[in-house]
Parts: sequence; structure tokens; C-alpha cells
Amino acid sequence: MAETHQPTSARPPRKTSWVGDLLAPVAGFGVSFRTMFTKVATEQYPEVMVPTQPRYHGRHQLNRHPDGLEKCIGCELCAWACPADAIYVEGASNTPDAQFSPGERYGRVYQINYLRCIFCGLCIEACPTRALTMTNEYEMAGPSRAELIYEKQDLLAPMLSGMLAAPHPMVEGSDDTAYYRGEVTGATAQQQEWVDEHRPQAGGSTQTDAGEMAQEPDASPTGRISAASRLRTRAESSPVSRLKAKLPSSEGKP
Ligand code: SF4
Ligand code: SF4
Repeated sequence: MAETHQPTSARPPRKTSWVGDLLAPVAGFGVSFRTMFTKVATEQYPEVMVPTQPRYHGRHQLNRHPDGLEKCIGCELCAWACPADAIYVEGASNTPDAQFSPGERYGRVYQINYLRCIFCGLCIEACPTRALTMTNEYEMAGPSRAELIYEKQDLLAPMLSGMLAAPHPMVEGSDDTAYYRGEVTGATAQQQEWVDEHRPQAGGSTQTDAGEMAQEPDASPTGRISAASRLRTRAESSPVSRLKAKLPSSEGKP
């Protein structure tokens, strides 16, 4: 015959002394009092940005070679490796008149959907050219779903000194292997001449990519654009803001 469980009897009431009863309401204040002398752990974000750990997985970045050509070759391996299907890449062929990366192909369209991304880093492991890496930036809020799909111009690394914005030819006498071996150290005079001839409006060595990379005014020294800046830019260019700017000011009116 199966054993049946008998209901357990209720616990006997705990014995307390009258001193314990007297001090019980005060004991809770002991915790508060002790906490007043411990180190404050509150972070004053967003006024004070606390640095992350160096290997924190934040926003992605599409890197450039030292002469400004893009490292991405549009191979789509990152998109295939992504478990969340967050990356969309469309490759295209480089031409003599529009060379964006060393070799035959470049990433014409590059999107990362941060509504899907789980920041696992598998995409950067899959990238054969180290074109894709992750920064420590974690400010990625946005006012709409569309705003959280980052385009190539949002992800491209900033132009550094000695770089020449793509498109332009590879360093004379070099091939893509030389780029991947790190033998290219910066833009040459011949590349500068080519840009001056084909994009005279660009000028200088730190111009933005032709028609692609428009550096926003609030970009940080590393070229990263904070979510607050993106929101502000979006708000300033919204139809309501533009309408307000057109309307006569009501200041000074009765
Ligand atoms: S970090 Fe992970 S989830 Fe995000 S895009 Fe890369 S592979 Fe996909
Ligand atoms: S980021 Fe890397 S893996 Fe992704 S398309 Fe570009 S080269 Fe290929």
C-alpha cells in the first residue's frame, strides 16, 4: 500500500524576549545607518559616462586601411555567421573609377539591425579582413525602429590623419596582399592627385567619403555618434521643427 503524506503540524510560535520586542523596530534603522558609511555605487549617467571594460561588446565599426580604403570586401561571411540574422550586406565590384577597398569587391550596402543584435561577437570572428570590430559604445537608443538599423555611414570608422576618403586607387605598385600584410602606411601623393583630379570638391586628406560618410557635428573624437546626438539631429530636422522655424516668433507680442 502506498505511503500517504500526513500534513505537517504548524510550527510552534518563536519565543521572544521583551528586550527583543522593544528593539525590533529600531533594528531596521541599523541597516540604513550602516549603509550611510559605505561607498556610494550610484552612477551619474548620462552626465558622467563610466568607462566599460576594454573588451565590452558595443556598437560595431567598419575599419579602414591606413590610406583610407575600406577593409570590408563585401563577402557576407559576417551575415552568415550572425545567429540573429541582424546583418545585411550587399557586395559590389570595385572599378578603376570607384575603388572603395583593395581587391575586387567592396561592401556597397552594409546594415546592422540593433533591434536583433545580441552582441555575441560571432560576426567579428567570422570577418576575414578584420574589417568588422566592436567598439565600447553602448548608447544606442533611438526614437523609432528604423533609427536602430545602422547603415554603412553610421558604422564606418572615422577618418584619421594620413587617410584619404574612398573611393581612390590603391597605393601604386601594391596589391590587396600588401594591404593585408600591413605594408601600406598611409595615402601617397599619387592618390592625393587622383582625388584632386576626380573629386576636386573633396580637398584635404580628411574629407568624408564621397556622398557616403557625412560626419555629424556631434561625433566624438573617435567618430562615434552618441544616441543623444542622433536624437537631437533627428529632432532638429523633424517636420515640426522646420515648421516652427518658418513661423514668426511670438516673442514681444501681447
Ligand atoms: S554581435 Fe552577434 S547578433 Fe550582433 S550582428 Fe554580430 S553576430 Fe549578429
Ligand atoms: S565585414 Fe568582414 S565578413 Fe562582413 S562582409 Fe565585410 S569583409 Fe566580409
